[in-house]
Amino acid sequence: MPNRLFAKRLEPRYLAAMDPRGFPTTLPEFQRVFPSDAACAAYLEKLRWPGGFACPKCGAVGEPYRFPKRSSVVLRCRGCQANVSLTAGTVMQASHMPLSMWFWGAYLVTTQTPGQSALQFQRQLGISRYETAFQTLHKLRAGMVRPDRDTIGGQYPVEIDETLVGGRTRGEGRGVHHKATVVGAVEVRRRREGKDRAVEGRRGHAEEKRGKRAVYAGRLRLRHVPSRSAEDLTAFVKENVAKGAVVRTDGWQGYDGLAKLGYDHKTVVLEGDPEKTDAHLPMIHLVFSNLKTWLLGTHHGVSQQHLQAYLNEYVFRFNRRFYPMTAFNSVLGLVVRAVPPTYEELYSGKWVHPSA
Ligand SMILES: [Zn+2]
Repeated sequence: MPNRLFAKRLEPRYLAAMDPRGFPTTLPEFQRVFPSDAACAAYLEKLRWPGGFACPKCGAVGEPYRFPKRSSVVLRCRGCQANVSLTAGTVMQASHMPLSMWFWGAYLVTTQTPGQSALQFQRQLGISRYETAFQTLHKLRAGMVRPDRDTIGGQYPVEIDETLVGGRTRGEGRGVHHKATVVGAVEVRRRREGKDRAVEGRRGHAEEKRGKRAVYAGRLRLRHVPSRSAEDLTAFVKENVAKGAVVRTDGWQGYDGLAKLGYDHKTVVLEGDPEKTDAHLPMIHLVFSNLKTWLLGTHHGVSQQHLQAYLNEYVFRFNRRFYPMTAFNSVLGLVVRAVPPTYEELYSGKWVHPSA
Protein backbone atom coordinates (compact mmCIF):
# COMPACT_ATOMS: atom_id res chain seq x y z
CA MET A 1 0.00 0.00 0.00
CA PRO A 2 2.61 2.61 0.93
CA ASN A 3 4.07 2.45 -2.56
CA ARG A 4 0.87 4.00 -3.84
CA LEU A 5 1.35 6.85 -1.45
CA PHE A 6 3.76 9.68 -1.76
CA ALA A 7 4.60 12.86 0.01
CA LYS A 8 4.29 15.91 -2.12
CA ARG A 9 4.88 19.47 -1.10
CA LEU A 10 2.09 21.88 -1.76
CA GLU A 11 2.79 24.05 -4.72
CA PRO A 12 3.01 27.70 -3.73
CA ARG A 13 1.04 28.96 -6.69
CA TYR A 14 -2.01 27.04 -5.49
CA LEU A 15 -1.88 29.00 -2.30
CA ALA A 16 -1.99 32.44 -3.83
CA ALA A 17 -5.68 32.57 -3.03
CA MET A 18 -5.01 32.27 0.69
CA ASP A 19 -4.28 35.94 0.75
CA PRO A 20 -7.69 37.59 0.93
CA ARG A 21 -6.42 40.49 -1.13
CA GLY A 22 -5.25 38.08 -3.79
CA PHE A 23 -8.49 36.16 -4.00
CA PRO A 24 -9.51 35.89 -7.65
CA THR A 25 -12.30 38.14 -8.79
CA THR A 26 -12.30 37.32 -12.49
CA LEU A 27 -12.82 34.05 -14.33
CA PRO A 28 -9.32 33.89 -15.86
CA GLU A 29 -7.75 34.59 -12.47
CA PHE A 30 -9.92 31.97 -10.84
CA GLN A 31 -8.90 29.43 -13.43
CA ARG A 32 -5.24 30.26 -12.89
CA VAL A 33 -5.45 29.91 -9.10
CA PHE A 34 -7.65 26.81 -9.07
CA PRO A 35 -6.69 24.98 -12.27
CA SER A 36 -7.32 21.46 -10.94
CA ASP A 37 -8.80 19.33 -8.18
CA ALA A 38 -5.31 19.17 -6.67
CA ALA A 39 -5.17 22.94 -6.41
CA CYS A 40 -8.56 22.98 -4.68
CA ALA A 41 -7.40 20.27 -2.27
CA ALA A 42 -4.28 22.28 -1.48
CA TYR A 43 -6.45 25.27 -0.66
CA LEU A 44 -8.61 23.22 1.72
CA GLU A 45 -5.55 21.78 3.39
CA LYS A 46 -3.86 25.12 3.86
CA LEU A 47 -7.03 26.66 5.24
CA ARG A 48 -7.37 23.90 7.81
CA TRP A 49 -3.70 23.56 8.74
CA PRO A 50 -1.94 26.81 7.92
CA GLY A 51 1.06 25.65 9.92
CA GLY A 52 1.18 22.20 8.33
CA PHE A 53 -0.79 18.99 8.77
CA ALA A 54 -1.67 17.87 12.30
CA CYS A 55 -3.52 14.58 12.71
CA PRO A 56 -6.94 15.04 14.36
CA LYS A 57 -6.76 11.45 15.66
CA CYS A 58 -3.30 11.14 17.20
CA GLY A 59 -2.04 14.70 17.08
CA ALA A 60 1.06 13.88 15.06
CA VAL A 61 2.39 16.76 13.01
CA GLY A 62 4.35 16.61 9.78
CA GLU A 63 3.80 15.81 6.14
CA PRO A 64 1.04 13.24 5.69
CA TYR A 65 0.90 10.61 2.96
CA ARG A 66 -0.93 11.82 -0.08
CA PHE A 67 -2.82 9.72 -2.54
CA PRO A 68 -2.41 10.45 -6.20
CA LYS A 69 -5.37 11.44 -8.36
CA ARG A 70 -8.82 10.36 -7.33
CA SER A 71 -8.45 10.26 -3.58
CA SER A 72 -6.77 13.62 -3.33
CA VAL A 73 -9.27 14.77 -0.71
CA VAL A 74 -7.90 12.16 1.67
CA LEU A 75 -4.64 12.50 3.60
CA ARG A 76 -3.13 9.73 5.66
CA CYS A 77 -1.36 10.28 8.96
CA ARG A 78 2.14 8.81 9.04
CA GLY A 79 1.81 8.25 12.76
CA CYS A 80 -1.45 6.33 13.19
CA GLN A 81 -2.32 5.66 9.52
CA ALA A 82 -5.70 7.35 9.95
CA ASN A 83 -7.33 8.68 6.81
CA VAL A 84 -8.36 12.31 7.14
CA SER A 85 -10.82 13.81 4.69
CA LEU A 86 -10.32 17.40 3.62
CA THR A 87 -14.02 17.84 3.01
CA ALA A 88 -15.31 16.52 6.33
CA GLY A 89 -17.56 19.07 7.97
CA THR A 90 -17.97 21.12 4.81
CA VAL A 91 -20.82 21.21 2.30
CA MET A 92 -18.66 19.03 0.04
CA GLN A 93 -18.58 16.16 2.52
CA ALA A 94 -19.27 12.75 0.97
CA SER A 95 -19.93 14.32 -2.42
CA HIS A 96 -18.94 12.53 -5.61
CA MET A 97 -18.65 15.78 -7.47
CA PRO A 98 -15.06 16.85 -8.16
CA LEU A 99 -13.66 19.60 -5.94
CA SER A 100 -13.09 21.87 -8.90
CA MET A 101 -16.81 21.70 -9.68
CA TRP A 102 -17.67 22.75 -6.15
CA PHE A 103 -15.19 25.60 -6.34
CA TRP A 104 -16.59 26.81 -9.64
CA GLY A 105 -20.07 26.64 -8.16
CA ALA A 106 -19.10 28.61 -5.07
CA TYR A 107 -17.40 31.18 -7.26
CA LEU A 108 -20.48 31.60 -9.43
CA VAL A 109 -23.01 31.93 -6.63
CA THR A 110 -20.90 34.43 -4.70
CA THR A 111 -19.69 36.64 -7.52
CA GLN A 112 -22.52 36.72 -10.00
CA THR A 113 -24.65 39.58 -8.79
CA PRO A 114 -27.90 38.15 -10.13
CA GLY A 115 -27.24 34.75 -8.61
CA GLN A 116 -28.09 31.58 -10.45
CA SER A 117 -31.11 29.53 -11.33
CA ALA A 118 -30.57 25.78 -11.07
CA LEU A 119 -30.85 25.46 -14.84
CA GLN A 120 -28.25 28.15 -15.52
CA PHE A 121 -26.04 26.56 -12.92
CA GLN A 122 -26.35 23.13 -14.50
CA ARG A 123 -25.50 24.48 -17.95
CA GLN A 124 -22.58 26.60 -16.85
CA LEU A 125 -20.92 23.83 -14.91
CA GLY A 126 -21.79 21.13 -17.41
CA ILE A 127 -23.51 19.03 -14.77
CA SER A 128 -25.36 16.19 -16.46
CA ARG A 129 -28.27 15.82 -14.05
CA TYR A 130 -30.54 18.71 -13.17
CA GLU A 131 -31.11 17.22 -9.71
CA THR A 132 -27.41 17.36 -8.95
CA ALA A 133 -27.24 21.03 -9.94
CA PHE A 134 -30.34 21.79 -7.89
CA GLN A 135 -29.01 20.11 -4.77
CA THR A 136 -25.54 21.57 -5.12
CA LEU A 137 -26.97 25.06 -5.44
CA HIS A 138 -29.05 24.53 -2.32
CA LYS A 139 -26.08 23.30 -0.35
CA LEU A 140 -24.11 26.38 -1.34
CA ARG A 141 -27.05 28.63 -0.48
CA ALA A 142 -27.19 27.13 3.00
CA GLY A 143 -23.96 28.98 3.70
CA MET A 144 -25.68 32.26 2.89
CA VAL A 145 -28.31 32.20 5.59
CA ARG A 146 -25.97 32.75 8.47
CA PRO A 147 -27.85 35.11 10.73
CA ASP A 148 -26.12 38.43 11.18
CA ARG A 149 -26.20 38.93 14.87
CA ASP A 150 -24.54 42.28 15.15
CA THR A 151 -26.21 45.59 14.49
CA ILE A 152 -25.34 48.06 11.76
CA GLY A 153 -24.97 51.81 11.92
CA GLY A 154 -22.59 52.06 14.85
CA GLN A 155 -20.35 54.43 12.93
CA TYR A 156 -22.46 55.43 9.98
CA PRO A 157 -25.87 56.97 9.35
CA VAL A 158 -28.53 54.46 8.32
CA GLU A 159 -31.33 54.93 5.80
CA ILE A 160 -34.48 53.00 6.62
CA ASP A 161 -37.54 52.55 4.47
CA GLU A 162 -40.08 49.93 3.50
CA THR A 163 -41.36 48.82 0.13
CA LEU A 164 -43.82 46.42 -1.45
CA VAL A 165 -42.50 43.58 -3.53
CA GLY A 166 -44.22 40.95 -5.60
CA GLY A 167 -47.69 41.22 -6.93
CA ARG A 168 -48.87 38.26 -8.83
CA THR A 169 -46.78 35.26 -7.99
CA ARG A 170 -46.46 32.23 -10.20
CA GLY A 171 -49.59 30.19 -10.46
CA GLU A 172 -51.84 32.91 -9.20
CA GLY A 173 -54.49 34.25 -11.44
CA ARG A 174 -54.83 37.71 -12.83
CA GLY A 175 -56.08 40.27 -10.38
CA VAL A 176 -54.79 38.36 -7.38
CA HIS A 177 -52.24 40.62 -5.80
CA HIS A 178 -50.22 39.52 -2.88
CA LYS A 179 -47.74 42.23 -2.20
CA ALA A 180 -45.26 41.61 0.54
CA THR A 181 -43.83 44.34 2.74
CA VAL A 182 -40.06 44.46 3.00
CA VAL A 183 -38.29 46.80 5.38
CA GLY A 184 -34.64 47.62 4.78
CA ALA A 185 -31.80 49.43 6.53
CA VAL A 186 -28.53 50.36 4.85
CA GLU A 187 -25.45 52.17 6.10
CA VAL A 188 -24.34 55.24 4.22
CA ARG A 189 -20.58 55.38 4.27
CA ARG A 190 -18.32 58.14 3.16
CA ARG A 191 -15.12 57.44 1.34
CA ARG A 192 -12.00 58.63 3.04
CA GLU A 193 -8.81 58.53 1.05
CA GLY A 194 -6.59 55.70 2.19
CA LYS A 195 -8.71 55.02 5.24
CA ASP A 196 -11.61 53.00 4.09
CA ARG A 197 -11.16 49.28 3.83
CA ALA A 198 -13.37 48.81 0.84
CA VAL A 199 -11.43 51.38 -1.12
CA GLU A 200 -8.28 49.40 -0.54
CA GLY A 201 -9.77 46.46 -2.40
CA ARG A 202 -9.33 46.10 -6.10
CA ARG A 203 -12.96 46.81 -6.77
CA GLY A 204 -12.56 49.99 -4.82
CA HIS A 205 -9.76 51.03 -7.11
CA ALA A 206 -11.80 50.13 -10.13
CA GLU A 207 -14.63 52.28 -8.92
CA GLU A 208 -12.23 55.07 -8.28
CA LYS A 209 -11.13 54.98 -11.88
CA ARG A 210 -14.70 55.18 -13.04
CA GLY A 211 -15.25 58.30 -11.01
CA LYS A 212 -17.28 57.07 -8.08
CA ARG A 213 -19.42 59.00 -5.70
CA ALA A 214 -18.29 60.27 -2.33
CA VAL A 215 -20.70 57.99 -0.49
CA TYR A 216 -21.42 54.32 -0.92
CA ALA A 217 -23.60 51.66 0.65
CA GLY A 218 -22.23 49.85 3.67
CA ARG A 219 -23.96 46.90 5.29
CA LEU A 220 -27.54 46.03 4.51
CA ARG A 221 -30.39 44.33 6.38
CA LEU A 222 -33.71 43.28 4.82
CA ARG A 223 -36.74 41.70 6.43
CA HIS A 224 -40.10 40.52 5.22
CA VAL A 225 -42.56 41.99 7.74
CA PRO A 226 -46.28 41.35 8.18
CA SER A 227 -47.13 45.05 7.90
CA ARG A 228 -45.73 48.56 8.00
CA SER A 229 -47.12 49.12 11.46
CA ALA A 230 -45.04 50.88 14.10
CA GLU A 231 -44.76 47.59 15.94
CA ASP A 232 -43.25 45.67 13.01
CA LEU A 233 -40.97 48.48 11.85
CA THR A 234 -39.72 49.33 15.32
CA ALA A 235 -38.94 45.70 16.09
CA PHE A 236 -36.86 45.48 12.92
CA VAL A 237 -34.92 48.65 13.73
CA LYS A 238 -34.25 47.62 17.32
CA GLU A 239 -32.86 44.25 16.26
CA ASN A 240 -30.77 45.48 13.36
CA VAL A 241 -29.60 49.02 13.99
CA ALA A 242 -27.25 50.04 16.79
CA LYS A 243 -28.82 52.13 19.50
CA GLY A 244 -27.90 55.78 19.20
CA ALA A 245 -27.29 55.55 15.47
CA VAL A 246 -28.34 58.32 13.12
CA VAL A 247 -31.38 56.95 11.27
CA ARG A 248 -33.05 58.60 8.30
CA THR A 249 -36.63 57.78 7.41
CA ASP A 250 -39.53 59.37 5.63
CA GLY A 251 -42.41 60.90 7.54
CA TRP A 252 -44.35 57.68 8.02
CA GLN A 253 -45.78 57.48 11.55
CA GLY A 254 -44.53 53.92 11.92
CA TYR A 255 -41.13 55.41 12.68
CA ASP A 256 -42.35 57.94 15.23
CA GLY A 257 -41.09 55.96 18.19
CA LEU A 258 -37.44 55.79 17.14
CA ALA A 259 -36.26 58.94 18.92
CA LYS A 260 -37.72 57.69 22.19
CA LEU A 261 -35.76 54.46 21.73
CA GLY A 262 -32.53 56.41 21.66
CA TYR A 263 -31.99 56.82 17.93
CA ASP A 264 -30.92 60.09 16.39
CA HIS A 265 -33.95 60.20 14.13
CA LYS A 266 -33.79 62.41 11.03
CA THR A 267 -37.07 62.52 9.24
CA VAL A 268 -38.26 64.37 6.19
CA VAL A 269 -41.78 65.53 5.58
CA LEU A 270 -42.46 64.52 2.05
CA GLU A 271 -45.71 66.15 1.19
CA GLY A 272 -45.97 63.73 -1.68
CA ASP A 273 -42.80 64.90 -3.35
CA PRO A 274 -40.88 61.84 -4.61
CA GLU A 275 -37.80 63.94 -5.39
CA LYS A 276 -37.53 64.92 -1.76
CA THR A 277 -37.72 61.28 -0.71
CA ASP A 278 -35.03 60.28 -3.14
CA ALA A 279 -32.80 63.07 -1.94
CA HIS A 280 -33.29 62.00 1.66
CA LEU A 281 -33.15 58.22 1.15
CA PRO A 282 -31.19 57.62 -2.07
CA MET A 283 -29.31 54.54 -0.94
CA ILE A 284 -32.15 52.39 0.34
CA HIS A 285 -34.23 53.32 -2.71
CA LEU A 286 -31.45 52.11 -4.97
CA VAL A 287 -31.26 48.88 -2.97
CA PHE A 288 -35.01 48.31 -3.30
CA SER A 289 -34.91 49.00 -7.00
CA ASN A 290 -32.09 46.52 -7.58
CA LEU A 291 -33.73 43.95 -5.32
CA LYS A 292 -36.97 44.06 -7.30
CA THR A 293 -35.12 43.76 -10.58
CA TRP A 294 -33.30 40.73 -9.22
CA LEU A 295 -36.42 39.03 -7.88
CA LEU A 296 -38.24 39.50 -11.16
CA GLY A 297 -35.41 39.04 -13.61
CA THR A 298 -33.61 36.06 -12.13
CA HIS A 299 -36.33 34.36 -10.19
CA HIS A 300 -39.46 35.56 -12.03
CA GLY A 301 -40.96 36.60 -8.73
CA VAL A 302 -40.93 34.53 -5.58
CA SER A 303 -43.68 33.39 -3.28
CA GLN A 304 -44.06 35.08 0.07
CA GLN A 305 -43.28 31.82 1.76
CA HIS A 306 -39.71 31.85 0.45
CA LEU A 307 -39.19 35.58 0.23
CA GLN A 308 -37.02 35.84 3.35
CA ALA A 309 -34.63 33.19 2.00
CA TYR A 310 -34.11 35.25 -1.15
CA LEU A 311 -33.68 38.40 0.91
CA ASN A 312 -31.00 36.59 2.91
CA GLU A 313 -29.20 35.60 -0.26
CA TYR A 314 -29.37 39.13 -1.58
CA VAL A 315 -28.08 40.58 1.69
CA PHE A 316 -25.29 38.00 1.87
CA ARG A 317 -23.96 38.89 -1.55
CA PHE A 318 -24.44 42.60 -1.00
CA ASN A 319 -22.61 42.69 2.33
CA ARG A 320 -19.71 40.65 1.06
CA ARG A 321 -19.25 42.21 -2.34
CA PHE A 322 -15.90 43.64 -1.27
CA TYR A 323 -14.86 40.40 0.45
CA PRO A 324 -15.05 37.64 -2.14
CA MET A 325 -12.89 35.24 -0.17
CA THR A 326 -15.12 35.42 2.87
CA ALA A 327 -18.19 34.81 0.76
CA PHE A 328 -16.53 31.95 -1.09
CA ASN A 329 -15.41 30.22 2.10
CA SER A 330 -18.81 30.72 3.72
CA VAL A 331 -20.81 28.96 1.03
CA LEU A 332 -18.38 26.03 0.95
CA GLY A 333 -18.77 25.70 4.71
CA LEU A 334 -15.10 26.40 5.31
CA VAL A 335 -15.45 29.17 7.84
CA VAL A 336 -16.92 27.45 10.89
CA ARG A 337 -14.34 24.72 10.80
CA ALA A 338 -11.31 26.97 10.85
CA VAL A 339 -9.12 26.75 13.94
CA PRO A 340 -9.41 29.98 15.94
CA PRO A 341 -5.82 31.24 15.58
CA THR A 342 -5.96 30.37 11.92
CA TYR A 343 -9.16 32.23 11.57
CA GLU A 344 -7.59 35.24 13.20
CA GLU A 345 -4.66 35.00 10.86
CA LEU A 346 -6.77 34.73 7.81
CA TYR A 347 -9.43 37.18 8.73
CA SER A 348 -7.59 39.62 10.91
CA GLY A 349 -6.18 42.96 10.03
CA LYS A 350 -7.77 45.66 8.04
CA TRP A 351 -9.26 43.55 5.36
CA VAL A 352 -12.36 41.76 6.52
CA HIS A 353 -15.26 43.57 8.03
CA PRO A 354 -16.27 42.28 11.49
CA SER A 355 -19.72 41.29 10.24
CA ALA A 356 -18.47 39.48 7.18
ZN1 LIG B 1 -2.50 10.20 13.36
